[in-house]
Amino acid sequence: MNILFRLLGISLLLTVAGCVTNPVTGKSQISLMSPEQEVASGAQNYGPAQQSQGGQYVVDPGLTTYVQSVGKKLAAVSDRPDLPYEFVVLNNDVPNAWAMPGGKLAINRGLLVYLQDEAQLASVLGHEIVHAAARHGAQQQTQNVLMGAGVLIAGVAISEKKPEVGALGMGALAVGAQAWQAKYGRGHELQSDEVGIKYMAKAGYDAQAAVELQEIFVKLSEGRNAGFIEGLFASHPPSQERVEKNKATAAKYPGGVRNKEAFQRAMAQVNKDKKAYENYQKAQKLAGEKKYIDAQSYVEQSIAQQPKENLFWELKGQLLLQQKKTDDAVGAFDKAIQANPKYFKPYALRGIAYYEEGKRDLAEKDLLASQRYLPTQIATYYLGEISLAKGNKSQASQYFQQAAQGGGEIGEAAKGKLERIQ
Ligand SMILES: [Zn+2]
Repeated sequence: MNILFRLLGISLLLTVAGCVTNPVTGKSQISLMSPEQEVASGAQNYGPAQQSQGGQYVVDPGLTTYVQSVGKKLAAVSDRPDLPYEFVVLNNDVPNAWAMPGGKLAINRGLLVYLQDEAQLASVLGHEIVHAAARHGAQQQTQNVLMGAGVLIAGVAISEKKPEVGALGMGALAVGAQAWQAKYGRGHELQSDEVGIKYMAKAGYDAQAAVELQEIFVKLSEGRNAGFIEGLFASHPPSQERVEKNKATAAKYPGGVRNKEAFQRAMAQVNKDKKAYENYQKAQKLAGEKKYIDAQSYVEQSIAQQPKENLFWELKGQLLLQQKKTDDAVGAFDKAIQANPKYFKPYALRGIAYYEEGKRDLAEKDLLASQRYLPTQIATYYLGEISLAKGNKSQASQYFQQAAQGGGEIGEAAKGKLERIQ
């Protein structure tokens, strides 16, 4: 659990509720969050939310530039063009997209692969922009507070799987797919559909794409695609009702552009790497079944197919760690960090590998680097171990106290350490 988010929540309670005019509906509504607080919360949580969901996709930076260009076109014609919008592509197989208060958006690589043209992408981004522009996050937050349901804006949950502290369990750094999930109500979803279509039409896109998109989602949800259920569908349940409503809304607008070629060009690298990601998923599945050698042969294929993908190197490193080949694991994590130096996980894992090799200073440096991107329970635990080994008991107990708060197996181990220190 991240303390940052809790503090942010508490600070919200201390501000006086005010009436704010909704920029999309023009109606007055009660809000505990000022527009400035919204922007601040988005800015503060955007980085950790990205980290907790795979970090940014870096193999082809051109894809992000492309998504940003489409997003900016839509934001410019929205009801709040002045928000500090940002758009990123997350390196995550789960089909998902989200918007944080203040206009901080993300779309997963795993959702982009289901889209066929730029107009469909615009319909996803348009929908998410409405959540930000219409202050749905602030409204949801206000409602939660008024109902006494707590004020957690964004909780970064570190794996619910039970990791083995000493044995460097594979799950120790896994982060749940729903690590950041805005729960908007049905009304907010319908409004985002309707106004999102208006934005995309205003930006010159064919509004029919929004109907197709909703149809694709309904079809996939009927097929019970597991990824969809844990991703997009959890926050945006698709339904025939939404398809029909989108049809009616889209009929109000004239046709527009589809930009299929531009979209396919931007997606060329991801599509070319399809096989590499499939092999990676097979490797992950085998790793989950503790078949580390088999998993490694798949991940080696992924690496041969796309050596610039940091996730492939990271998994290879984890598999080597499992086989107690710490030296080789460090080498793989080096490659992962080279490929994407702005992602917390390989730093944390390399730090643990160094710790196992008795290289405490290198371990500490890496663990601290990982904490700067995303504080995790396991890195905190190992920092406690290092402080203890250095004879700094008070610092060690601070780390163990933090790690203990996270609960689970690591939490228990941290509690055990605390008892021995005192
Ligand atoms: Zn939505």
